[in-house]
Amino acid sequence: MITGDRKPLEEIAAMVEGFERVLILGCGTCVTVCMAGGEREAEETALALRLRGRERGVSREIWYANVERQCDEEFLQEAVDHVARADVVVSLACGCGVQHMVTVFPDLIVYPGLNTTFMGVTEELGVWAERCLGCGDCVLERTGGVCPITRCSKSLLNGPCGGSADGACEVDKTIPCGWQLIIDRLEAIGQLQRLDEVLPPKDWSKSHSGGPRFRIREDVRGTDDVEEGAQ
Ligand code: SF4
Ligand code: SF4
Repeated sequence: MITGDRKPLEEIAAMVEGFERVLILGCGTCVTVCMAGGEREAEETALALRLRGRERGVSREIWYANVERQCDEEFLQEAVDHVARADVVVSLACGCGVQHMVTVFPDLIVYPGLNTTFMGVTEELGVWAERCLGCGDCVLERTGGVCPITRCSKSLLNGPCGGSADGACEVDKTIPCGWQLIIDRLEAIGQLQRLDEVLPPKDWSKSHSGGPRFRIREDVRGTDDVEEGAQ
């Protein structure tokens, strides 16, 4: 999932200063799971902004709504009536959702209510951890399913570095050395010999370093109906 943190209320309040009708729009997928930008957080944000306005004697319309996914036009259309009423929308989606909103509604002013952080997993209730940088050329089959790009602080493809000590990372001793995790995992699955393979220099042009990327499926492009089970 994509994770994020809600921006401080004062920052959001400053963005919407001077607007009469303010919609707070939540997103029902990733940012709901990481408790940052779902319906509940949209409601809380709208309430907090209303209270803040009342304390300052400012009267304006602030309400909230939620859609399943802001990165998908089909779901954004469900918010069309809310959007039509709003002078400004504070999107609690990740940065993809915000950008898709301004594409789908080109005349609309949309501001980000979240700081998007990373792609990760839920480790336990209230703890999310980064796991993938979307490098475009996955090497997990060679590293026991542990990502060297995100789990190693230096993103080393052939580790560990000389600073790894007692299983901890030299950059931050409170986190495990990513390469120690890889070694432990390879040992556990009987593939320690994988360490003898030297991973070649990575082609970073497949990552964002090569510019904005697109994923195109020519077989389904331009068709509305995709046969169930089609690859
Ligand atoms: S190797 Fe690349 S694609 Fe695979 S998990 Fe790591 S960052 Fe993501
Ligand atoms: S100690 Fe381990 S995780 Fe930290 S930078 Fe070195 S190899 Fe990477």
